[in-house]
Amino acid sequence: MTRIRYTNRKNQNISFSSFLCKDGCILYKIVRKNEANLFLEYLEEENYYIVTCNKSISEADIKQYVLNNYEWVMNWYKNVDNPAPWMLFGQKVPAHVVIGNEHKVDYTGNQINVYLRHKRDYKDAVKQFYKQFAIAYLMPRTMELINKLGLKGKFGRVSWATYYHGLCHSDKTIDYSAKLVQYPKEYIDYVIYHEIAHFTHMNHKRPFWDLVESYCPNYKQLDKEAMHMRFTNHMW
Ligand SMILES: [Zn+2]
Repeated sequence: MTRIRYTNRKNQNISFSSFLCKDGCILYKIVRKNEANLFLEYLEEENYYIVTCNKSISEADIKQYVLNNYEWVMNWYKNVDNPAPWMLFGQKVPAHVVIGNEHKVDYTGNQINVYLRHKRDYKDAVKQFYKQFAIAYLMPRTMELINKLGLKGKFGRVSWATYYHGLCHSDKTIDYSAKLVQYPKEYIDYVIYHEIAHFTHMNHKRPFWDLVESYCPNYKQLDKEAMHMRFTNHMW
């Protein structure tokens, strides 16, 4: 490991560090601030990383953090140069990135145009778009299916969670992951019915699955297809 240290004009303690790995020499700069969060950025033109962290974290831990995360961060930039299609309702929608003065996402119905000020904003643009899209679709659809069954329940919030598509609380409020709208509408309905079935059974025992099946007879098939889609496509 080689290191050069200096203090910049803002009196921040900055250091350059590097290590060798399968991708060659990874160069990174440590910026210590009074913030709790660790944050990794990649400066493409300069070809180095910036780690923002608090003052107490050890250099060994920082190195491990960069080692674990640099590839993932780098992939976001590769994504921007040649973006994978975005999935909406089970369909691939081609994405096109324009770097300029705007920060917005336009969905024309058959193409997604992403306007960014910096490449590093891509991930935020993806999340923002999917969250808005998910709320616009899932809120009315959830209420429609709840009403159709003559039940009472509430639409909660939309997150960027990876470990669930839907989540039902004991007060009959349903939360979703924005990632759900990548899947076909039939699968989305299954997820909504699954969560509605939790109004009656707050578990995954036999009577729960019987109720799900009465709401959505082909749920097993839909679940299988969704799983297959996840492994064969670029999904967020
Ligand atoms: Zn469940």
